[in-house]
Amino acid sequence: MNLLKKAGRPNQMPVRFERKGSLRRLAAKGFLLIVLIAALSGCSIGSELLNDHSVEPLQKEATLRVIFLDVGQGASQLLIAPSGQTLLIDAGNNDKEQTMLDYLRKYGITRLDKVIGTHPDADHIGGLDKVIDGTAIGDIYLPKASSNTKTFESLLKSIQRKGLKVKTAKAGVQFDMGEGVRVKMVAPVKSYSDSNNMSAVVKVTYGSHSFLLTGDAESQSEKDMMASGADLRADVLLVGHHGSKSSTTLAFLKAVEPRYGIIQVGKDNNYGHPTPTVLQRLKKQGVEVYRNDTQGTIEVDSDGRNLSIRTER
Ligand SMILES: [Zn+2]
Repeated sequence: MNLLKKAGRPNQMPVRFERKGSLRRLAAKGFLLIVLIAALSGCSIGSELLNDHSVEPLQKEATLRVIFLDVGQGASQLLIAPSGQTLLIDAGNNDKEQTMLDYLRKYGITRLDKVIGTHPDADHIGGLDKVIDGTAIGDIYLPKASSNTKTFESLLKSIQRKGLKVKTAKAGVQFDMGEGVRVKMVAPVKSYSDSNNMSAVVKVTYGSHSFLLTGDAESQSEKDMMASGADLRADVLLVGHHGSKSSTTLAFLKAVEPRYGIIQVGKDNNYGHPTPTVLQRLKKQGVEVYRNDTQGTIEVDSDGRNLSIRTER
């Protein structure tokens, strides 16, 4: 049973933002009571329950789920398309390997149709080796950037063991996830010596909604993306490089014009992420900010017309 659908979210607005409370666990008794209340009141509290019990696959709902997994100081986004196809972008740091496997189990994922490692930094690809070891994988994309770290070597070993052939992540690469979900990379536009700027930047479009997932791309890459003429507009922006001041320039922000900004950042990180400069800039542009460190996992759902966001805390 799909509780989200059952609870119903009637609305005619082209984009609707619904802030949901939390994913916290509910006792079985309370669960039934709330379902009853939701059904009687027509409110959409059911989506909380849905998320809490998300082992159930959601293919029958025409919803694109974009889940910004809480992996502490690092990044990982899991996308589940209405077709059932899945895309994982990054997988947190090395110490989040088990966490990632737990997430995949929680969301009922046994196969990842596409995997993108945005760039070789440990806080993005650290958990990817174990994900590849433990999951059926379709295609894997990495930018043409190498690293001599153990983390990167371990990823390459897992790829090799699985017999996968790495596809190059770069501007212009695209694929679709069925039923109208399109994925297009808008960066890296060029080759950079700096690993962050080599980040694959991924634009996902479904109906009237777009998501721009930026890895750790910095101002140089942002500039080149803008110069490339790519359509960067997006409703939801993964704020670049965990909110570091190296990214999210005003010009880029104006080109993307997001309504919502997601910051994947860990509590008390040593980098000072996100920086007050970037937070201020987002605020000034009217971007509503969500953060993993304070809100836990953040899920943005789109049915192509309506957008909803819910957070773990
Ligand atoms: Zn990073």
